[in-house]
Amino acid sequence: MLLKGNPVSGGIAIGKVYLYQTFSCDVHEAYYKKGEKTQRLAEWESAKQAARAELTTIADSFTRDGAADKAKIFLAHIDMINDAEIDELVREEIEKNRAMPDYAVDKIFAEFIGLLSEVKDPLIAARAADLRDIRSRLIRILHGEPERNLSLLSEKVIVVAHDLLPSDTATIDRGKVLGIVTEVGGSTSHSAIIARSYGIPAVLGVPGAAKLLHDGDLALLDATDGTVRICPDEETLAAFQAKKAEYEQAQTETAAFLTAESQTKDGVKIEIGINIGSDQCAEAEYENCDFVGLFRTEFLFMQNSHLPTEEEQFETYKQVLKKAGGRPVTLRTLDIGGDKSLPYLALPKEENPFLGKRAIRLCFDLPDLFETQIRAALRASAFGKLGIMFPMIGGIEDIRRAKETVAKIKTELDAQQIRYDKDISLGVMIEIPSVALIADLAADEVDFASLGTNDLCQYTCAADRMNPGVSEYCRSLSPAMLRLMGIAARAFNQAGKPISVCGELGGDPDAAVLLVGLGIRKLSMSASCIASFKRLLSQIPIHQAQKTAAQAVSLRTQEEVLRCVKEIGNRN
Ligand code: PEP
Ligand code: MG
Repeated sequence: MLLKGNPVSGGIAIGKVYLYQTFSCDVHEAYYKKGEKTQRLAEWESAKQAARAELTTIADSFTRDGAADKAKIFLAHIDMINDAEIDELVREEIEKNRAMPDYAVDKIFAEFIGLLSEVKDPLIAARAADLRDIRSRLIRILHGEPERNLSLLSEKVIVVAHDLLPSDTATIDRGKVLGIVTEVGGSTSHSAIIARSYGIPAVLGVPGAAKLLHDGDLALLDATDGTVRICPDEETLAAFQAKKAEYEQAQTETAAFLTAESQTKDGVKIEIGINIGSDQCAEAEYENCDFVGLFRTEFLFMQNSHLPTEEEQFETYKQVLKKAGGRPVTLRTLDIGGDKSLPYLALPKEENPFLGKRAIRLCFDLPDLFETQIRAALRASAFGKLGIMFPMIGGIEDIRRAKETVAKIKTELDAQQIRYDKDISLGVMIEIPSVALIADLAADEVDFASLGTNDLCQYTCAADRMNPGVSEYCRSLSPAMLRLMGIAARAFNQAGKPISVCGELGGDPDAAVLLVGLGIRKLSMSASCIASFKRLLSQIPIHQAQKTAAQAVSLRTQEEVLRCVKEIGNRN
């Protein structure tokens, strides 16, 4: 069988399917018949035992990998399962009220969760998220469902799912995932971005994948052309293995460019940055870049079961600066909303979350959270070259409001004689057209800017970046996008202030000539894109890039733009 989707992270994989479905905790009020008491109590006892065994396996594996902090979370869950008060209340429900064990668990845990959720202290409220996790684990076991967990896989697999949340991909067991196939998600969805940054081949938007593929099926995933083949015959498998070997050979040749100078054919330097999501990147990943153009801090928040404290954030930011080894790091403040949520932060549901209280707007609504992050970032700035960048800026009003918070925290730190970089650079993401159009005014207010082309495209073209049904309308290289990016690049270049690209276009081979031609001299991308970008760049002289970009902005359709870029590629 042959399925097709969007190849969003290049590569080829052969492996067994691992069907990932998040367990939905459906419990109904139910009571057992007289005479079943002993059996039902025994079910509760064995569910606890099974849960303890699962949690011990997870904790042991994290301990073995040196991730003691993660192991601690699961050990704490075992303590909660052993809690005598919870046990007594669940037993009472089963014994006295003849409640079915799953209903008893659901009822008692719901009471505790309700109490904790009302507590203002975020650290205590976070315990509610832990209890939710444990409740779901116990109910899943009582329903006889096996564990599905992407952070702990026993063998190398191709993960197949309807959808993967950014929180699933953020904690994925990178060494064991050969490839990813999902039914939904576009090329700039956050799951696609993480797959690319981990170098995991991924094909998203494959209709019916989670129904047509079964656990253990042998799958051939080709994320160069977006195809997935299942249960192939010997001949197809052999041909695919040959294609994989050829691809890997070409990758090895490209990898030779990883350490090359990043410059055009005639020696114009283009600075290369990497995009990171946490402090977990190996030091080697920083080696072949000039800066960290985008540190998406929300992943630190998504990987935790509670709001990271100022101290936890400070340590992480400091760690990133240390690993960056003196290279400048642009820390982007929290960008939650849209497709990214925090389980422990109950936010009102919105009809259009991408157009709602996302990113900086949410931070303005939650000043404690925003100020804690700014304080942690400023303190970390004493340990390296840190810049702070605000996402989802829609106008000068937003810039001024964000800067006011930074000024307030600086005053507090001064009063407490706490060290920070007094000249810290403040910048904005240009990802909403309303700010791209007034980039000259924005350049007066900030030290730098970065083009967030994923959202800039989504908001310019009015096409949801998550919805594969409208991906053909997300025209990131349309003449409209090129003109907008050109306006922003010109404004910042004229102001003598740096402007980079940190959206996915930054690492897109089709975009490279155009962006450089539009005047961009800093590009930040997934580490896996660096080698091929440097290779491409080394083949084009700057005047040719400028000529191509000038021609492209006056073309009429994205198709014409892509044809124009291809012609240049063929000529070199
Ligand atoms: C962007 O929008 O281009 C960007 C870099 O931010 P994110 O993808 O995290 O929204
Ligand atoms: Mg964005």
